[in-house]
Amino acid sequence: MFLFDWFYSILASLGLWQKEAKILFLGLDNAGKTTLLHMLKDARLVQHQPTQYPTSEELSIGKIKFKAFDLGGHQIARRVWKDYYAKLVDAADKERFTESKKELDALLSDDSLAQVPFLVLGNKIDIPIAASEDELRYYLGLSGSTTGKGKVNLADSNIRPIEVFMCSIVRKMGYGDGFKWLSQYIK
Ligand code: GDP
Ligand code: MG
Repeated sequence: MFLFDWFYSILASLGLWQKEAKILFLGLDNAGKTTLLHMLKDARLVQHQPTQYPTSEELSIGKIKFKAFDLGGHQIARRVWKDYYAKLVDAADKERFTESKKELDALLSDDSLAQVPFLVLGNKIDIPIAASEDELRYYLGLSGSTTGKGKVNLADSNIRPIEVFMCSIVRKMGYGDGFKWLSQYIK
């Protein structure tokens, strides 16, 4: 099934068709954000040149707005709009896990973002050397602190929903479950 159809049917089944949400895609350059945005837009794979410079891209589907930002060295992402975060990590680029963790930690320690649901997508699992979900959790410092793939009750806690889903955007695998998880928090 094309993600386009899938996404619309998720929105419809959750009664989100007319809901508004802003979802921010963050990640180091080369993580796959542009590919994912284009996938959402076109529902088909378009090969992109890797993004060479920090960029910002935007897309709307219904009243859901998506914006992608390259992280790395600048903290602008914290000042832009968002209701929900989707952080992309290149799971095959282990040399950059420390850099990625640093960016993640900066976001997670920001009190003003304490309630913002946070989806971590470990991308490129089609590459054989990609980290496993447990490895990625470990390297990002999330072992024991993710909130589970079910629903966190936001009413009776200060817990920020955060969970890791492994995916391959080019193979159209895994991120659907991630968005499904995230969309249960869209009011
Ligand atoms: P951005 O800098 O985060 O916007 O990353 P891009 O979307 O430009 O992707 C960077 C590179 O990773 C491109 O060459 C993509 O084709 C590639 N890429 C994206 N997703 C995947 C994936 O799931 N698997 C593999 N093997 N490559 C991917
Ligand atoms: Mg890009």
